[in-house]
Amino acid sequence: MTVSGTLYVVATPIGNLQDISPRALAILRDVDVIAAEDTRHSARLLQHFGITTATTACHDHNERDKSQRLIERMLAGESIALISDAGTPLISDPGFHLVRQAREAGVRVSPLPGPCALIAALSAAGVPSDRFAFEGFLPAKSKGRRDRIQALAAEPRTWMIYEAPHRLLECLQDLLDLLGPERQVVLAREVTKTFETIKGAPLAELVDWVRADSDQQRGECVLVVEGAPSVDDSDALPAEVERTLTILLDELPLKQAAALAAKLTGEKKNRLYQWALAKDAQVGDTD
Ligand code: SAM
Repeated sequence: MTVSGTLYVVATPIGNLQDISPRALAILRDVDVIAAEDTRHSARLLQHFGITTATTACHDHNERDKSQRLIERMLAGESIALISDAGTPLISDPGFHLVRQAREAGVRVSPLPGPCALIAALSAAGVPSDRFAFEGFLPAKSKGRRDRIQALAAEPRTWMIYEAPHRLLECLQDLLDLLGPERQVVLAREVTKTFETIKGAPLAELVDWVRADSDQQRGECVLVVEGAPSVDDSDALPAEVERTLTILLDELPLKQAAALAAKLTGEKKNRLYQWALAKDAQVGDTD
């Protein structure tokens, strides 16, 4: 009886080639074939480390068909390493179908952990990291992006997104509009590379800073968004203000309700906005 091979899911550097682990290099040397998102892109990494293992392409457009053939090879005893262009496969990268099908076929799947942009960003952001959520890339179009941000506005955990440099400023502007000027956000840019920058600030300040310096709109970036504040006694609103805002929230979107309540009561709009967000989150918690 043939013992089936293993599918190794291998993380590769997100910028600094020295971040690859010795075990990852050994596996990349030893496997029968490396399934790479882009074989030409990965050739640079493999050449750098003198690895001559054969490669085959496994990307978003061919993954479903390719997986079947790769699984047949593993069932026949071969071992395969899956890599993406950078970081950990399957994290906003191809590999899900291959891993799922391999597991369903009874093939052993073994991870080789290593670089991952969101974890690297979170580890240096200095925001609560005991619980967090990863949202991948938000929709490219403004309407879809704003809808997702609105749905996340009351999320109490830290959440993270990947963003393309040419959309960074638009995305930050949408975050500012929907989360308010005081929400703390960390921009982690070019992590592990020469121009690594990790800047945390309230959204209003961060947007101005990025707008004023076009260098901050280049390269790869992760945004780490601190969760919505929870309401405690020190945040309590005067009873009349709370009543007004609660009534308006039943009829209007959160932003409009906060703006109108601010006009009616003289309270600061952002305070009302944050209070309403936190209340929304608490309602969500009890669902
Ligand atoms: N699989 C990768 C990982 O483990 O992080 C992510 C792949 S995804 C296609 C690429 C996105 O990851 C970029 O658009 C950027 O948002 C983020 N990213 C990758 N490398 C980065 C870096 N060095 N610094 C900051 N963000 C990075």
